[in-house]
Amino acid sequence: MSIATALHDSVTPEARAFLAAEQHHIIDGQSTPSQDGSTFETIDPSSEEVLTRVAYGREADVDNAVQAARNAFAVGSPWRRMAAADRGLALAKLADLLERHADELADLESLDNGKPRRFARQGDIPSSIAILRYHSGSPARIQGRTVPVRGRDVFAYTTREPVGVCALIVPWNFPLGMAVWKIAPALAAGCTMVLKPAEQTPLTAIRLAQLALEAGIPPGVLNVVTGDGETGKALVAHPGVDKVAFTGSTAVGRAIGERAGRDLKSVTLELGGKSPLIVMPDADLEQVIKRAFAGIYYNSGQVCSASSRLLAHKSIFDDVVAGIAEKARTSIIGSGFEDNVYLGPLVSREQHTRVAGYIEGGRGQAELVAGGETRLDRPGYFVEPTLFTTTDDDAPLVRDEIFGPVLVAQPFESLEEVAHRASDTEYGLAAGVFTRDLSTAHKVAGLLRAGSVYVNCWGLADPAAPFGGFGASGIGREHGEEGLAAYLEPKSTFVQLG
Ligand code: NAP
Ligand code: MG
Repeated sequence: MSIATALHDSVTPEARAFLAAEQHHIIDGQSTPSQDGSTFETIDPSSEEVLTRVAYGREADVDNAVQAARNAFAVGSPWRRMAAADRGLALAKLADLLERHADELADLESLDNGKPRRFARQGDIPSSIAILRYHSGSPARIQGRTVPVRGRDVFAYTTREPVGVCALIVPWNFPLGMAVWKIAPALAAGCTMVLKPAEQTPLTAIRLAQLALEAGIPPGVLNVVTGDGETGKALVAHPGVDKVAFTGSTAVGRAIGERAGRDLKSVTLELGGKSPLIVMPDADLEQVIKRAFAGIYYNSGQVCSASSRLLAHKSIFDDVVAGIAEKARTSIIGSGFEDNVYLGPLVSREQHTRVAGYIEGGRGQAELVAGGETRLDRPGYFVEPTLFTTTDDDAPLVRDEIFGPVLVAQPFESLEEVAHRASDTEYGLAAGVFTRDLSTAHKVAGLLRAGSVYVNCWGLADPAAPFGGFGASGIGREHGEEGLAAYLEPKSTFVQLG
């Protein structure tokens, strides 16, 4: 196999070596080609050239991986016998290994997804390490309680046990991060798992599973099957799977929820959003412009909790729009390895076509203030940071998750009006308000229907704080105690003492 991409000089030798080989599933601790030998290409979205080939998982490969996870979960297996403290230690070791391989992982993430390497190096990788470190303390916190039940001479207590074999299906926007959001609590709980990365970005999931083996996590505990939506579908439907955890589109989330419901599998879904950022007239506008810009254009807008709808009071609306438009016009677009790039390409041709469609459609519905160009004079799936304004709350630009660098700004007049308009969406992932007034801040925070509410900031997430959505933004929470509980089954034990 020849690799067409001329890699940037600064790409680490480790990342080069990884890309020089065809990559396979990780099943039962082994690099495993597909049973029928199928592979697919993974592409650098900034050059449209092939990075490497990866195994394409079909039903037989999914079955193989689920079987490995079932065996690793069997009573008496090394993983089931491992003490809680040692599970914690293994998670801590995995965190250390990610730190040691941070440059290599950042290179692979940037090449596969298109995001600026410095953002991968300063954001995706350290935040993944922080989650592993947080959950290295979780096994010791998995405790039950004694229960004062009604029966005479009955001693009752609860324990919390791993839910079993988990199917973890993740998207392409933060490939390593989204994988770690799921594997860390699943491992802490004592589950075994099959991870299915997105077809656009399979590389760091494979590397993560290799490092997990190095950290002392037994073979078969963390398996990776690479492939596409069909691979994911086979995994969700497999009778050997006890729980499904998914991050991605609302449409696929609905289908997975439906299937899991029929099979009575436990399920958590982290889906899309159309998250409103509200600017009150007294807000610090310099901060607003800075945070609102990053809120929508970071990761080229491919963030589930992006602040994709801006609602600014009419008295400051023009200033806020002008400030964001100016930043958008001067921001640098390019490959993840070019200097000072803020916006890398979108992840795929498919995503580029989808976002370009919204921009073309938007020209008829709204006023274009900045950007709008989707055909740059170079290969790659680039889109300019784009800003529209409209007063029409029913425009697709206002209602739909675009998942690209496209912001729509709208004026409002009163607090009651904006609270109502901001919540008039099927989604409820994130929402925010900028104001210097303490009571306005808390009042609006209380009115917003969203899993994460931001006051004078945007996009913060923390391993200790639950993250997830109301309504069509999902079911369940990741991070914190709630995120760990999603991988545990409570059990009540009653003991008759006399
Ligand atoms: P998607 O289809 O929902 O993909 C998410 C993951 O689910 C991928 O690993 C995907 O595999 C897998 N998958 C697809 N169909 C499946 C099925 N029937 N059963 C089980 N797994 C399945 O998302 P997308 O098509 O890549 O992106 C479309 C839109 O989703 C975006 O424009 C955006 O609006 C939204 N999105 C949201 C998030 C988020 O963080 N909430 C992330 C990404 C995308 P393959 O990718 O290999 O097909
Ligand atoms: Mg897809």
